[in-house]
Amino acid sequence: MLSRSLILRTSAWPPVERLVRNTRIFRPLVSRFIAGDNLNEAIDASVKVLDRDIKVTLDYLGENTANEAEALEAKATYIRMLDRIANVPQFKAYHPTDGRLPADPLNISIKLTQCGLDQGEAFAEKNYRDVLEVAKSHGNFVRIDMEASAYTERTMAMIERVFPDYPNTGTVLQSYLYRTDEDVERMIALGARVRLVKGAYLEPKEVAHPEKEKVDEAYVRQMRRLLEAGFYPAIATQDEKMIDEAKRFVAEKKIDKGSFEFQMLYGIRRDLQESLVKEGYNVRVYVPFGDAWYPYFTRRLAERPANIVFIAKSFFKG
Ligand SMILES: Cc1cc2nc3c(=O)[nH]c(=O)nc-3n(C[C@H](O)[C@H](O)[C@H](O)COP(=O)(O)OP(=O)(O)OC[C@H]3O[C@@H](n4cnc5c(N)ncnc54)[C@H](O)[C@@H]3O)c2cc1C
Repeated sequence: MLSRSLILRTSAWPPVERLVRNTRIFRPLVSRFIAGDNLNEAIDASVKVLDRDIKVTLDYLGENTANEAEALEAKATYIRMLDRIANVPQFKAYHPTDGRLPADPLNISIKLTQCGLDQGEAFAEKNYRDVLEVAKSHGNFVRIDMEASAYTERTMAMIERVFPDYPNTGTVLQSYLYRTDEDVERMIALGARVRLVKGAYLEPKEVAHPEKEKVDEAYVRQMRRLLEAGFYPAIATQDEKMIDEAKRFVAEKKIDKGSFEFQMLYGIRRDLQESLVKEGYNVRVYVPFGDAWYPYFTRRLAERPANIVFIAKSFFKG
């Protein structure tokens, strides 16, 4: 059976990347997970999602800028996204009552390595703050995606520095990391919104649970803690066991359905997204766009090796 780590390792090999980028057989699967190459396409896809009563977070694909110019370009794109979102009718109809903006319909998710974290912490923080200032002027929210573990502490520390000035921000915590129980407490103490995920990167066993059962156990424990004590947490998973446990737990503790949201990735389990909306839960879809889709795409394949088997079958059928 293809393992997650084998897929992540193989796909990082440049000839494999060239093959995937240049072979038409991958196109249908790429367009299932990626909303388009440019902002216009992404806004169109987002409006369709919003029309289904599902909220959106928009992600401009890309990570690890090679120089300051690339980071400034990414920042300009983030700002363009916020300006465009401000004109989307569903966003205009939203009237925030709290600086921390729970239940905002259409926000953005960004990466600190795309803001230039590899070029320097002060440089990335300045870019992040510039984006937050624009978001604040529009009454919008910006979430920092969590990347590989080499960046976790710098991301946490930056959020802690920035949040007092910009409560319209929050981050993501990954249950596969051993450190995450403590990070959950740090974010609860800060009052920042947390998206809880299992974690998508290839991590050594010194920093992350290698066993899926341990990751799932940690996810349930941290999810319960955030649902009880966190501020508008996002339970981000396609795993029905986790979703059922969240539903059971909030019913048992009489936690208001409006005090948290479920999140899923664009192109995955649309049926489940819609049934949760019908049951009265807040649901948000993560909508990625842009031409730097390759690393994101391979993480999605690694989560579900059946997708690769599907491609292989189509390939041999011709
Ligand atoms: C909104 C959102 C934002 C995210 N942000 C981050 C982030 O900032 N940092 C980070 O490290 N990770 C992020 N992730 C990814 C996350 O860490 C997991 O890798 C991903 O969600 C798969 O885990 P799972 O919880 O769905 O459970 P799994 O145990 O991986 O999967 C459970 C079931 O869900 C279905 N499923 C899962 N993935 C797929 C797929 N790709 N295609 C089809 N079916 C699938 C399958 O039925 C599978 O059996 C994000 C995920 C979501 C939903």
